[in-house]
Amino acid sequence: MAILPIRLYPDPVLRVKCPPVERFDAELRNLAADMVETMHAAPGVGLAAPQVGVEARLAVVDLSVGKDPEELLVLVNPEVLNEEGRASETEGCLSIPDLTDKVDRPERIRLRAHDLAGQPFELEADDWLARAILHEIDHLDGVLFVDRLRGLRKERARRALKKLAEVYEEVPA
Ligand SMILES: [Zn+2]
Repeated sequence: MAILPIRLYPDPVLRVKCPPVERFDAELRNLAADMVETMHAAPGVGLAAPQVGVEARLAVVDLSVGKDPEELLVLVNPEVLNEEGRASETEGCLSIPDLTDKVDRPERIRLRAHDLAGQPFELEADDWLARAILHEIDHLDGVLFVDRLRGLRKERARRALKKLAEVYEEVPA
């Protein structure tokens, strides 16, 4: 296992709509293991493959940050089947250092994903777990939490991102 470098905004890999995983092989299992180690070391509660430079629909989530192995989720090709409610809570992102803000998201979700062996499973999640999963699924579509901010929060984020990316033009539209 290895700790991988985390790609930072405005790395273009963070804007890729990632293709589904098709091969459930040792390479995928190694990548997932490295992503879990990288997430725990950061420390963070979630990490998506594009954040380590890999264009694939794979994400890991662990609200316990390594304290409880039962809380570790590995999601391959995750799909939201159903969502309910709305909640606004403060989020951050390992790829956007030092920026946090309140993001509106569904409060409860039902999800379908595959495990590392390619077996499909369904999962219900609410509150912070739902939020973490939705944040990571956004990454698989090239969407960052700052894209979901509105109004003054969006303006504030744009200014912070400009500083982060002085040499790049990319700011959320
Ligand atoms: Zn993130």
